Amino acid sequence: MPNQNLIAYVHNVTPVLSSTSTGAKTATSKYFEMQLQTKDDVRRGVCFSPAKLSEFQSVESKTSPVKLINYDIDKIDNKSVLMGARVKLFEMPVSFPKATLKSNITLGSLSAVADNQLISLDAKVVKLQGRKKVNTRYGLKEKITGFIVDPHGAITIELWEDFIPQVEEGGTYTFKNLRLHKNQYNGSLFVGTPVGCNCTITPREDFSQPLATPTDLPDTFLTKTTQAEFIGIKTFALYYTCFKCKSKITDSTQVITKCTKCGLTQKVEKCKKTCYIQAFIEEEDDACVTVTIFQDVLSEALRLPHGQPLTEDIITSGLLSLPRQNISYNRKTKVVSSVQSL
Ligand SMILES: [Zn+2]
Repeated sequence: MPNQNLIAYVHNVTPVLSSTSTGAKTATSKYFEMQLQTKDDVRRGVCFSPAKLSEFQSVESKTSPVKLINYDIDKIDNKSVLMGARVKLFEMPVSFPKATLKSNITLGSLSAVADNQLISLDAKVVKLQGRKKVNTRYGLKEKITGFIVDPHGAITIELWEDFIPQVEEGGTYTFKNLRLHKNQYNGSLFVGTPVGCNCTITPREDFSQPLATPTDLPDTFLTKTTQAEFIGIKTFALYYTCFKCKSKITDSTQVITKCTKCGLTQKVEKCKKTCYIQAFIEEEDDACVTVTIFQDVLSEALRLPHGQPLTEDIITSGLLSLPRQNISYNRKTKVVSSVQSL
């Protein structure tokens, strides 16, 4: 259908999403979605050109509609608007009123969102814990970790500095422009309040639908915080991480290696070296546990500046001279998430 055009307001542009189809060949496609409010209805819009994202984001904030040209209509539902790199947007005078449409990003759909993007959603804060000061590249900053839920899922949230007093346990909020992160060690997702991205937190009414049940909650609910002392270091291991996806490089004995996770073939010398240790800790009731601690938590525990290389000597003498600490670790994986002085 050449020369067709559509006049619509653009609402709720999602971050770039990715979907993997497994057929004869595995293919990953990147796209983003939106709602298109025409004079008579609301249609789903899908754009397969991530480069167009900022253009759609900027028209979303406008108070006038746009004319779309060079798009297709989905042949299955005869309604969804499919767009690619050729789509063009032209600002139009207001000919019908702009409606308020609810966002369709939920905690259940976040796994499709690519790392490091800004997202906005409504969620209830169910738990806040572990308020602490952290060495960051912007200096010593205060952070609190919590969990948020909506009717579709749950996720860990990290609130920094000025955002900490803005939420309370049990409160429901509209979060705008949180940054989505992927944990580099286990791939789990969390969101955080970014610096300088117009992040806002506004109280809203509670959800009327039932919220996600605790079985849907992330592993982070399994965190145990205990007073314990480092008794011994069992293992110290250095390893290389993939230049692209940061997972562990399994074969670093060659000059060139291939990441088993993302498939990037790369020079080992360009990979970042990181380390972890396995330590024996004695908890308050004389029980001993073996825990695993990765580099970022080690630097924090030893109060070393972020990025300073760690050697086995620095770690061993540092940890073993610490007095009893508040140590938080995952009951299942025994990975330590924080070491704080009492
Ligand atoms: Zn990789």
